[in-house]
Parts: sequence; C-alpha cells; structure tokens
Amino acid sequence: MSVSVLVKLTPRGLQCPPGDFYIDPWEPVDCAVLTHAHSDHARTGSRVYHAVRDSQPILEHRLGDEAHFIWHEYGERFALGPVTVSLHPAGHILGSAQVRIEYEGTVWVVTGDYKTQPDPTCRPFEVVPCDGLVTEATFGLPIYDWPDTDEVAAEVYAWWQKNRALGRNSLLGCYALGKAQRLLAALGKISDEPIYTHTATENIVQMYRDLGVTLPPTLRVQEAPKKLSGALILAPPSSLGSPWARRFGDAATGFASGWMQIRGNRRRRGYDKGFVLSDHADWKGLLSTIENTRARKVLVTHGYSEELARYLAGQGLDAEPLATHFQGEGDA
Ligand SMILES: [Zn+2]
Ligand SMILES: [Zn+2]
Repeated sequence: MSVSVLVKLTPRGLQCPPGDFYIDPWEPVDCAVLTHAHSDHARTGSRVYHAVRDSQPILEHRLGDEAHFIWHEYGERFALGPVTVSLHPAGHILGSAQVRIEYEGTVWVVTGDYKTQPDPTCRPFEVVPCDGLVTEATFGLPIYDWPDTDEVAAEVYAWWQKNRALGRNSLLGCYALGKAQRLLAALGKISDEPIYTHTATENIVQMYRDLGVTLPPTLRVQEAPKKLSGALILAPPSSLGSPWARRFGDAATGFASGWMQIRGNRRRRGYDKGFVLSDHADWKGLLSTIENTRARKVLVTHGYSEELARYLAGQGLDAEPLATHFQGEGDA
C-alpha cells in the first residue's frame, strides 16, 4: 500500500489522514470530498459531502437530496481539521474539480478525472502547483493523441447527413454526463437542427442549460412528432443494444469515446462508426500537466497507471502506481 503523509490509500478509498476526510470514497465515510458526479467517484452513504457548487443539481440528482452537501466555489479555501482544502477546475465535466490539500507547508493535489482540451461546457483545467500529485492515467499511453473536437463534430455531422440521405437514423452512443453535452455544443457550431436524445441524456442536458451552459436544440425521442427518419439520436452506450433502440429500425450506430482511437475496438463492440472524443487527458495532456505542476512525487491511478508511472520513473521522477477502484472512461 502506497503511503505518503497527506494522501493514503485505504480500503474505503483515498484518505487524507491529518484532515480525516476521503476523496471520492468507494465506501461510506464521515467526511467525503467529491471531484465530480460520475458514478465511480460519487457514491451514496457518506455523512457529509464537500463539492463544487456547479455540480449541485447533478450530484443531488445522482446521490439524492437527503444527502448532506456543503457547496464550495472554485478556489475557495476551507478547513477540514488542520488541513486547508480547495477545489480547482479539472476541465472534465461541468462541476469537476481537482482537490488541493495543504498541511504544514506541504501541498498535494488529487486531480480526479481531468482533461486539458478545450470544452465550452465546463471551466478549463487549471494547473495547480504542488509537491505531490495524484494523477489519473485512463489514456496513459503515447497512442492516445486526441484530434481537435471541432473536427470530430464535423465527422459526426457528415456521418449523420450520409445516413439521412440513405433514409437511416444515426444512433450515437456517448456518456450521458459530460460527453453528450460537449458533443452537442460542438455540433451546435455546425447546425441548429434539433438532435434527439435518450431521456437519461436529456435530463442532464437540461441541468447543464439550467446552470447556464448554451447548447443547441434537443428533443426527447418521446417528443418526436412521428416515426423518426434521418435523425441523430444521442444515447448512453448501454441503451444501444437494448429493446429501446429497436424503435429506430435499421439505424446506423456509432460510439464517441477515446477508446475509438484503437482500430478494432469499434468492430469488436459492433458499432458502424467510431469517433475519437474523450473527457480525459491524452498522453501529451498527462505529461504536460505533470510537468507543469512541478510535483516531486507522483502517484498514478486509473487505466494505464503502471505504464505511465514506469515512464515517469524513467524520466527521473519519483512516481508509482496507486491501485484505486476508479474505472476511467467507463464511468457515467
Ligand atoms: Zn469522470
Ligand atoms: Zn473516473
């Protein structure tokens, strides 16, 4: 078990021992600090949750409004025991945060999930200088190198129009929280035609709008005037193979994910088309972030943690993997 002074891995999750709190605990605890609302990070049963105010409607929706939340602004400092804590934009989804922990002059940062690519639906990632860094590594291999988001949106649009010309619907799997809204924002720059949504996706779309994020017009599939033809439908990936999807007839299916960078993943998963779009940092984003924080000690979680830690150690950094329960991009 990896141990440092300020961040320690325990059976309940990542703990800050001097402050007696946990970050994204996977078991109920007295005091939790949450990085964001994806289900592998925000779990029910804890007594008190500290989180960023921008995530309020989404976290209340996901954890239930009987949960006891304490909301904070980005950058606001608050005390948990003798530890000073603050939450900083992670650029991952709306309301996502990195956790900065300061105790007796030493600073650690836990990134949660993050990305460095621009995303108009959330606050941009902020580099937080620190002595020790816990970074994710969902896509911690050099092959992961994200294309520009507007190019990906143009590909989605072209695919939709091609399918429409053939009289087919286009059913695109993308996570309901974060990915769908980001894709909508990028598609909205190309077209203002309504895009159809699965209810799980539309609920979150409405929350983003209520929080001030501008998104193009969307309609729940149930609100369709008649049988859909030539429509683009955004839906959670899990719904694509379900009875729900049968109403769209012989629809073309696509998947928007960082995993689509690997040839073969699309075919193995049975999609007609893959689009490379991720809400996590790619290899260059991970390396530049780690360098820019100037951390002397780096603990790596999620995904390719062993590979990234080994690479960093080879570069002379004090780095090691940390075996957490976070799932990476399967979350949402
Ligand atoms: Zn996440
Ligand atoms: Zn995650």
